[in-house]
Amino acid sequence: MEALKIGWIGLGNMGNPMVQNLLKAGFEVVVFNRTKDKEKELIALGATSGASPQEMLQTCDMVITMLSNDAAVKEIFESENGLLSQDNPDKLIINMSTVSPETSRYLATICAARHLHFIDAPVSGSVKPAQDGTLVILVGATDEDYLLAKPVFNVLGKVSIPVGGPGKASSAKLAINYLLGLNLQGLAETIIFAEKSGVRKEDMLSIINEGACGNGITNIKANSILNDNYPAAFPLKHLVKDLRLAKEAGLDSPLIHPLYDSYEAAQKEGFGDEDVMAIITSLRNK
Ligand code: NAP
Repeated sequence: MEALKIGWIGLGNMGNPMVQNLLKAGFEVVVFNRTKDKEKELIALGATSGASPQEMLQTCDMVITMLSNDAAVKEIFESENGLLSQDNPDKLIINMSTVSPETSRYLATICAARHLHFIDAPVSGSVKPAQDGTLVILVGATDEDYLLAKPVFNVLGKVSIPVGGPGKASSAKLAINYLLGLNLQGLAETIIFAEKSGVRKEDMLSIINEGACGNGITNIKANSILNDNYPAAFPLKHLVKDLRLAKEAGLDSPLIHPLYDSYEAAQKEGFGDEDVMAIITSLRNK
């Protein structure tokens, strides 16, 4: 069977390693990035450069978008030379960026009107899982479209989990990132409280991670807290965006509002481009 030809739009921190994995797996990949310089590394690895999103949809079996936010995704779909600027019926578009469920439903509707198939497939995991091909991929798709995308998801992630029709995966993504925000805020507050009571952070991290309160993310973030250094694995600004989207999508629980305010304050203090765990530095300064 001939390998699928994939168009990939968005070569940021996540898109670049995801494309590298597709190339390693033998897929033909056409790449497109607003800042053209970021295409060079992937072209050296065997990708080709797409002239425009529209042309890519015409010449590829499917096009995948991995862009910052709702506005960027809508622009790539709807602008002049965008994905929908000409008819390319029966093609598949997969948006893997984190956007609002409302935007995903909108994209599904405008794609259906043009006889295009649409999947929302945001990912849980950051740059390291993207490099290792171990992302958790949340899938909003019809059963038929999911089968078409599965060979690609198998390369990018350790698992793909269908959660319903288009739009549903974006809701699931906002829910899991709410839990991420709660976990890291809780971890930061716990360490600071322990330190103020004279307990060393080394000891407190061992108590958390050796016991029932430890989990994947408290383990992953332990080293950055020990070294007090927070290079972005998942930038704090992305979590602020995701918590805002969760609020806009109707999350009105007791903790969402103070949680959002806490991360938003950290972003305003200049921690937006640092890792989300930098919330601990913001809280220490208070
Ligand atoms: P990023 O490094 O900031 O890259 C964003 C990409 O979007 C770049 O290719 C950028 O192009 C492009 N872009 C932004 N605005 C655009 C516009 N108006 N038109 C065309 N292209 C535009 O982001 P990332 O970390 O790869 O994240 C991508 C998505 O995955 C986000 O939705 C994020 O929430 C989600 N996500 C991220 C992580 C993570 O750990 N980073 C984890 C899970 C999910 P330029 O190069 O020209 O700026």
